[in-house]
Amino acid sequence: MIYVGIDLGGMSAKAGVFKDGELILKERVETNPSDGFQGVADKLVFLAKSVTQNAGFSFKNVQAIGIGSPGVIDSAKGVVAKWGNYNWIDVPLGQEVARLTDKKVYLTNDANAAALGEAKFGVGAKYKDCLLITLGTGVGGGIVLDGKLFEGFRSAGAEVGHTVVEVGGRKCGCGRCGCFEQYSSAMALIRDTKEAMEKAQGSAMWQVVEGDINKVSGSTAFKAAAQGDKTAQAVLDQYVRYLGEGIANLINIFRPEAVMLGGGVSNAGDALLTPVKAYVEQNIYVDTDYAPVDIVRATLGNDAGIYGAYAYALQREE
Ligand SMILES: [Zn+2]
Repeated sequence: MIYVGIDLGGMSAKAGVFKDGELILKERVETNPSDGFQGVADKLVFLAKSVTQNAGFSFKNVQAIGIGSPGVIDSAKGVVAKWGNYNWIDVPLGQEVARLTDKKVYLTNDANAAALGEAKFGVGAKYKDCLLITLGTGVGGGIVLDGKLFEGFRSAGAEVGHTVVEVGGRKCGCGRCGCFEQYSSAMALIRDTKEAMEKAQGSAMWQVVEGDINKVSGSTAFKAAAQGDKTAQAVLDQYVRYLGEGIANLINIFRPEAVMLGGGVSNAGDALLTPVKAYVEQNIYVDTDYAPVDIVRATLGNDAGIYGAYAYALQREE
């Protein structure tokens, strides 16, 4: 059975062709808001056909197409209900790709797709209940329960980044204050790193960025802390506390077998995972002797979206 999984982003769309659970070939095209709805739909159709044919298959043998898209997605209808960056409201993207290809097309949110991809084909493959939390520009995520993606009513759920970890805390783009993503995203870590550096001119973090604060990244504090820098360690201790609280909240609600961490900050590896795991184990309600919870790095990286779009098509076909 041949399927196409498409990961639509603000700058590009990537597609993978899958045969019997295996990624055979992937391709990408650039996208931008000026393409408009029709332009994006046309590009996705071109991409789906191109990747299938270049893998040596006939497009007529494609069973279905899965698409992960940014924004609020009405997955039952195949409609992008709202995508701020592209100024899209009620755009029938899935319907249009289905019309142009004469294929079944299943549209879901990109973060949800990534979670399902990791759960089915990445580090989550051995678990039935697992969560993905991505620590990137924001904090995204998805929830897989009993092997199925949980989307909520009108697929508006699983917005883990907009749960509050600090009442009355930092203002979030969503309008609320103190959201998880205001403390645990890569952007939050970069902001905290810069603030700490400005107060500590002697910190080793300045050497890490060669004296240029504009070079601060999500790895700056990790590098300096590894050299024993106390200011960097304090930045990370605070980061771990908020991330740990956010993860503990989610574990207390869903009690998954695993929490998978993705996104740029997760590249820190054990320097992040070890303290987060210790913090979470101390703070969750039911202890881990009774119900162990693994906290692991996501493994599919940038391919999580295409795997997930494929996995989502499989789930909807069941
Ligand atoms: Zn928010």
